Parts: sequence; C-alpha cells; structure tokens
Amino acid sequence: MPKTDGGRVVADLKRLAEFGRYKTGVHRPTYSAEDVASRQWLADKFREAGLEPVIDGIGNVIGRNPGASRRLLVGSHSETQPHGGWLDGALGVIYALEAARAIAADPALAGLGVEAIAWADEEGHYGNMLGSRSFTDALPDSEIESAASRDGKSLKQALADAGYAGRPRERVEPARYIGYFEAHIEQGNTLEAEGRRIGVVEAIIGAWNYWLTFTGEQNHAGTTQMARRKDAGVAMVRLANRINDRFAEIAGPRTVWTIGRMLLDPNAPSIVPGRAEMQVQFRDTDTAILQRFEAALYELIDEYNRAGPCHCGSEAMSKSEPAHMDPEFQRLIERAAERHAPGLHLRMPSGAGHDAQILSHRMRAGMMFVPSIRGISHHWSEDTKEEDIALGAQVFTDACAEILKAG
Ligand SMILES: [Zn+2]
Repeated sequence: MPKTDGGRVVADLKRLAEFGRYKTGVHRPTYSAEDVASRQWLADKFREAGLEPVIDGIGNVIGRNPGASRRLLVGSHSETQPHGGWLDGALGVIYALEAARAIAADPALAGLGVEAIAWADEEGHYGNMLGSRSFTDALPDSEIESAASRDGKSLKQALADAGYAGRPRERVEPARYIGYFEAHIEQGNTLEAEGRRIGVVEAIIGAWNYWLTFTGEQNHAGTTQMARRKDAGVAMVRLANRINDRFAEIAGPRTVWTIGRMLLDPNAPSIVPGRAEMQVQFRDTDTAILQRFEAALYELIDEYNRAGPCHCGSEAMSKSEPAHMDPEFQRLIERAAERHAPGLHLRMPSGAGHDAQILSHRMRAGMMFVPSIRGISHHWSEDTKEEDIALGAQVFTDACAEILKAG
C-alpha cells in the first residue's frame, strides 16, 4: 500500500496558499500574476515528483508520466474564487501530487502511475470550466475568441499576458488513461453533520437556469389607481412565491432550487415598475426530476400569463446534465475509505459542479470529498481540519492504487 505523508501535504497546501494570500484564504483569479506564478510552482513540484510537466495554451498544468504502462489522470483546479478559500481546488491538486510521489516510491506498484493535472479556470473567471473542456475537445475556438472576464478583459489578452498564448492546447487521448479521479472539499456540511470523514461521490448534480422577464407599465406611484396598474414587480414576487410553493410539492429528497437574482426597472420608490427580471435555478442528480421542475415552471408561467395583467417571458439559459460517477470507482474508493476510516464514509451526491463532470463524458470518472468545517466555502474562512486533510490524502492515494491495480 503506498504511504502518504500528511505533514508534507499540509505544508504544500500552505505554500500554495501563499500565492495570493488574503486573510486566512486566497485571492487567486485565473491568469492573474499570482495564478501564473502558482502554476509554475506546481509544474516544478510535478517535476520533483518524477513527472514531466507541461503548461499548455489554456493554462492547464499537466504532469506527464511516460514511464507508466497504466495511468490514472488525477487532479483538480488551482485558481480560486475572488477572496476564496485555500482548499477549494488546491486540495485535489496537492493530493494528486502526493499520490504521484507515494505511488512512485512503492515498488509493488511498478508500471502503474498517475498523471497529475491542475485545471485552469474551473471557477469561471473567463468561462465555465475552460481547462477541462479544452482538454476534452469541448471548448470551441469561437468561445476562446469571445470570452471575457466580468471586468471586461478578454480571454485572449489574459492568455497573452500570462505567457500562454501560442502554446498548443493539450488534448485528451482517452486510451492513455483508465479514468479520472478528483478529490475536493465537500463545500457543504453533510459529512460534518453526519460525523463522517470521507464522502464517496455518486453523481454530480445538473443545474438548470432560467431567465424570466416581466413586462408591465411604468407609471406614477401617486396618480395611478391600483385597479389600473400593471406592476411588473408585484407580478414577479407573486410568481416567485407560486414557484417556491410548487417546487416544494414536487421535489426529490435532494433537489435544491434558488431565485438568486431579482431586478426592478426602474428601481425607484415612487415609480410603478414597468419591467422586472428574475433568475430561477434548480439542481438535482436525476434528469427526470429536472424535467419535472422545468414542466412545472412553464405551467406556472402559462397560468400567470392567462391571468395577467403583466406578461412573463422566459428563456432557458444553461442546462448542465447530471454526471454519474463510475460504479466500480465508487466501490474502490469506498474500500480505501473503509481501510483508513472504518464506518466513517458516506456515499453522497455533489451539489457543486466539478471538472470531473466534464471528464466523465470521455472516460470513467470518480470523486471523493473531505469535510468542510461548518460547510463554508467560496469564502476566505473556508477550512478543513488538518487530520482530515491528512486522512483524505491517504484514502485518495490508496484508492488511486486500487483503481490502477483493478485496471
Ligand atoms: Zn472547486
């Protein structure tokens, strides 16, 4: 069994967190100077671990393992959310590094090896999961031409400034790998609440998003009699309540839904709003439930439009499909977890999106979670106990070896 060094894993994570440190977290947006420096540091660490690193034309750092005759691709993303945590993404990258070191040091695993990867821009500073989509031929050139950050910098300029422009983008050869395996912090509080230390991911949720636009009539808030009003704001709030009630009736055990954005136009105290907008999102691992939610949403919109007085238009924005993790990988991850944390593991869905869902379209994929303290993530205070970080590294590496041996 390959032996990991928990102290070394924690030390490497702390070193990586120095690139863009912010309070106890990290501010390291994709292609920022700190991100570029951290990718070079990772490439150097991959080389020290016996891998041959390449930083490609989208910023993915790939540690090639030409000597192995059977390979597992392992990793996560290395940039962070704005003023985000030190473990979101970084944990999976450093586990990949540790797995490379520990497996190379174990003579019983000769010929078997991992290739470590730090994906670029999973967090969506310039696009949605750019690095893993680039690697799996799911990122069209036209998107690279047109993508820009929220503050208006083009992706092409960002790649040029980072020194990645003109480099080839590495593409997956599916036959090179027996699969992809990613570790991540849970980012929720299920493991903590259940007193478990390892999560074995069964599926990554699909998220469906809709943009609803309400058209009424903008008018004077003092002179417009109530009976004559076409108040787009009232229409939006009424429908939002109906949606929330209806979704609760038809939800599965793990379905979540959110109205996270609402706008009034104009947004002024003495004007009846003539226009309003809201965004509706729901997530589940079961496509049938997602379809049921979509049908219910459209039914409620039709019902509202028949009653009036405003009009509600709708547009589906993005719909990601649930991604199911390989059952054999789940079994082997669970076996490794049982060896090091008997009875303290749990099969669960991932409520957040991850690069593993992109890879799962091209090869067998698996994921495991370690607990997040109080379930906090996408915030600088995100944290995980050091003993959980160390345990997770051992389970991850052991599961890598199991998957490699099973072939
Ligand atoms: Zn992440």
